[in-house]
Amino acid sequence: MATAVYPGSFDPVTLGHMDIIERTAQMMDHVIIGVLHNNSKTPLFSVEERVKMLEEITSHLDNVEVRFFHGLLVDFVHECHADVIVRGLRAITDFEYELQMAQTNRVMAPDIDTIFLTTNLRYSYLSSTTVKEIAFFHGKLEAFLHPEVARRVEEKVKKLKNH
Ligand code: ADP
Repeated sequence: MATAVYPGSFDPVTLGHMDIIERTAQMMDHVIIGVLHNNSKTPLFSVEERVKMLEEITSHLDNVEVRFFHGLLVDFVHECHADVIVRGLRAITDFEYELQMAQTNRVMAPDIDTIFLTTNLRYSYLSSTTVKEIAFFHGKLEAFLHPEVARRVEEKVKKLKNH
């Protein structure tokens, strides 16, 4: 039984993330999406909101589960009894950081490997940060986000602007 952890901030989850989740779910017996609860960043969505959105849009995938974590990723992976970490690679700019993280994690936990899935070309430019910028200027989000996620982002931006 191979179990993978797909970690990230998912603030918010994009169609690029979804593509990685769906492809991983086809390859692995079990996929745990690890939503990072990072105190040093101020996310648009709380960790609970991010988990809920991911649960909703992955509900059609029987072998996918969503959890949140803080602290070291390798500790979370051990806690999950998982075998591998999955990360997505969009461009060469992702590579340096991802390689550094994978190698650091390997030193800390030699029993865990990191595998990389190259992005679907349709989403190679897409990031949560870009999506948030578009949302703040009321741009259309449907090419980047699941409709339910787009609705939540629009709602959240409206609330923030009214404050
Ligand atoms: P982090 O803050 O850990 O980078 P993200 O939520 O931004 O978290 O991304 C989680 C993972 O998904 C990372 O491996 C990232 O490279 C990957 N990813 C993000 N956007 C895309 C995309 N458009 N296509 C493929 N992979 C992506």
